[in-house]
Amino acid sequence: MFTAPIAELAPALASKRLSSVELTTALFDRIDALNPRLNAFLARDRKRALGAARAADARLAAGNASPLTGIPIAHKDVLMTAGWKTTCGSRMLENFVAPYSAFVVERLADAGMVLVGKTNMDEFAMGSSSETSYFGPVKNPWNVDYVPGGSSGGSSAAVAARLVPAATGTDTGGSIRQPAALSGVCGLKPTYGVCSRYGLIAFASSLDTPGPFAQTAEDCALLLNAMAGHDPRDSTSVDRPREDYARLLRAPGGAKPLAGVRIGLPKEYFGDGIDADVAAAVDAALGEFRKLGATTVEVTLPNLDLSVPVYYVIASAEASSNLARFDGVRYGHRAAKYDDLTDMYKKTRAEGFGAEVKRRILIGTYVLSHGYYDAYYLKAQQVRRLIAEGFQRAYQQCDLILGPTAPTAAFKLGAKTSDPVQMYLNDIFTVAGNLTGAPAISIPCGFDRNGLPIGLQLQGNHFRESVILNAAHRYQQATDWQRREPADIALETAR
Ligand code: GLN
Repeated sequence: MFTAPIAELAPALASKRLSSVELTTALFDRIDALNPRLNAFLARDRKRALGAARAADARLAAGNASPLTGIPIAHKDVLMTAGWKTTCGSRMLENFVAPYSAFVVERLADAGMVLVGKTNMDEFAMGSSSETSYFGPVKNPWNVDYVPGGSSGGSSAAVAARLVPAATGTDTGGSIRQPAALSGVCGLKPTYGVCSRYGLIAFASSLDTPGPFAQTAEDCALLLNAMAGHDPRDSTSVDRPREDYARLLRAPGGAKPLAGVRIGLPKEYFGDGIDADVAAAVDAALGEFRKLGATTVEVTLPNLDLSVPVYYVIASAEASSNLARFDGVRYGHRAAKYDDLTDMYKKTRAEGFGAEVKRRILIGTYVLSHGYYDAYYLKAQQVRRLIAEGFQRAYQQCDLILGPTAPTAAFKLGAKTSDPVQMYLNDIFTVAGNLTGAPAISIPCGFDRNGLPIGLQLQGNHFRESVILNAAHRYQQATDWQRREPADIALETAR
């Protein structure tokens, strides 16, 4: 019961078959037993969580609970969480305690969710494997010799290992969807602007998007209902009427619940460079979608091959500007010994940032510098527009775009750390969603020859979250990939 999805836990809490205190206690026992192997959590606080659980039980008893009241959650350590250390996986913020909470953190607390702890991540969300954390790599619960994906790998691993039913992440170039795929859970990147960035420590402001991780698409819809909303403190937060993202999921399905849904298959997603097991699993999933009534149409996404270089120019440019604030004066780490102010800046930043963050700052500063701005940054912005126009043309022919989330299942720890370009290429299917701002989900759709999970990505046009979630939900009603749990973790629990 304790490891069930939110949609099963919520009625148990509501009917008092289960209390939030019991659930929270059981999950903390799992975390204590399993986290030393996974390194998914950077901070956790049982006492504080039990206080929140008692308050949630009182709210459940009083009858003014939300569907999320009493459900434990963990937040990626890039989200400001009042009174908690918020480190971004960096030495720079090793001892930084957040003075206020991010919008999405506040909203989930208001819904009555029980905060369990903060999850490990690539330093400043830069990475695809959760190996660049100053606090050591996160391990994949399916096989601890493999990476869980990144940068939100602590959150994806925590949900995969059933340490929490839900977690938050942020997706700048794939950091929710890719770790969801490699860890075998669901991860939703909403439309840019649907979830406020207030309190999200900025990596690349025009791309950063908070979103949920959970076991099922249905749970992601419940979480998004609480996380979405207008926030005047983020100037790019969209002001639109409240939406119930789970509404389509509740409609009676029948034998062909996806009748009328047109799925676009970009030929760019089914070419070379995709692992054979991944291609086979995606193909089998496509068969299920057809059985559910969806039709398919071949589409093309011109310039898609340019999305990785374009992303790494734009994201690095924005990062070099955003990370200028970490100067030893205002936040976090400051070098102990220095000669003058300039020397203090230099030593602080040399000590506080890891190699990948420095690489991004160097690239970003370079592409923004006089003489290179037009050749790189401006050019990248122009190609970003072309890529977005390609998607708009595709969406004239289809409602959803289907393909793999990542070209391979999880890779071994250390396999790509010495070759940044290989690491960046893992983002080939996810970065375009950030360049266009449109929503996408990754859901489990099978396993590779090593028994590692494979992710399926469903993308839709702006604000079509409910359509994406509904398609994912109908697929999950017809299959059971989302119910599979890592075997060694199950053994650990039985002991
Ligand atoms: N892997 C990508 C990067 O390293 C995306 C990271 C993210 O989405 N935060 O930049």
